[in-house]
Amino acid sequence: MSDQTASDAPYDVVIIGGGPAGLTAGMYAARASLRTLAIEGASALSQITATDFVENYPGIPAGATGFDLVERFRTQAVGFGLETVSGDVTAITRKPWGQTDGWEVVAGGRRFGALSVILATGAAWRRLGVPGEEKLIGRGVSFCATCDGPLFRDREVAVVGGGDTAIQEALYLTRFATKVTVIHRRDRLRATAILRERAFANEKIFFAWNSVVDALDGDDVLREVRLRDVTTGATSVLAVSGLFIFIGLNPNTSPFREWVAVDKGGYITVDANMQTSVPGIFACGDCTAKRLRQVITACGDGATAAFSAQLYVEEMKGEAY
Ligand SMILES: Cc1cc2nc3c(=O)[nH]c(=O)nc-3n(C[C@H](O)[C@H](O)[C@H](O)COP(=O)(O)OP(=O)(O)OC[C@H]3O[C@@H](n4cnc5c(N)ncnc54)[C@H](O)[C@@H]3O)c2cc1C
Repeated sequence: MSDQTASDAPYDVVIIGGGPAGLTAGMYAARASLRTLAIEGASALSQITATDFVENYPGIPAGATGFDLVERFRTQAVGFGLETVSGDVTAITRKPWGQTDGWEVVAGGRRFGALSVILATGAAWRRLGVPGEEKLIGRGVSFCATCDGPLFRDREVAVVGGGDTAIQEALYLTRFATKVTVIHRRDRLRATAILRERAFANEKIFFAWNSVVDALDGDDVLREVRLRDVTTGATSVLAVSGLFIFIGLNPNTSPFREWVAVDKGGYITVDANMQTSVPGIFACGDCTAKRLRQVITACGDGATAAFSAQLYVEEMKGEAY
């Protein structure tokens, strides 16, 4: 644990986020002998801790719980000298350190000096906000068909949403499930034509139009979804083993948007080296604009971001060769 104050020497790298991206960045930076701190969010854990079983991370054929995987990443990074502290970062500000440019990262009442910063704050799927949802996440309720779809082989599942992601994931789920019901609050899909056509042509896909979810029921695992027709007010119950919610994703980037460029969804735009629009600030993982949001891609991004930060700091210190 670290308790650096503003008067101390700055860290070479301060990483914001303690998920796969941040911890991999931390491992690479610390292993390169950079003085490195990872500030892990206090109010939310890495998204991957929400899932009971990760079976698509290479090298672990038996799979692991998301929580276990993150613990392994942390143990390995700390073993190379990564310092960690818990706290929610609310701001970063510019701060020169002697002749050198740098940053100050504010987390709660504490401030941490940095020559470079890596943003690895991930994203959070928007939730329905209905009774039963929180306790059933990872127990039938999922936000990731790529990750959890194979767990529902020969079962009936439902998907909430009508956009491209919802329909793409519904189509993917038909590889495993016997029946996929798409629950959509309107009477037509927002998804692009080609996806709509594929969904309508798929005999495993059914639609609950003009419907919203009022509540989820189940003790240990999801058992049924309570629906309401928004046009008639009629209620009904849908018995499913899995419910996949795709009503949008919110990147955890609001404290940094005054500094780094983001796309229209709020994701940080980076180049192939994970460099943001601001020299000295790098970003990696699910908080960045990219196509595939998975543990493996977050780790790859984290390694690249750390290497870029290393080159930046060495250049700044006149140690580049
Ligand atoms: C239910 C579920 C199941 C999934 N299953 C799989 C799977 O089987 N396989 C797979 O490859 N992927 C899976 N994913 C996707 C995977 O979880 C993400 O792609 C991955 O976690 C992204 O890593 P990350 O480090 O970028 O972000 P995250 O894992 O979200 O970590 C973000 C970190 O930033 C911290 N943070 C956020 N805001 C702040 C702040 N202001 N200050 C300080 N810290 C902050 C958080 O506390 C957290 O430590 C799943 C996702 C979900 C939701």
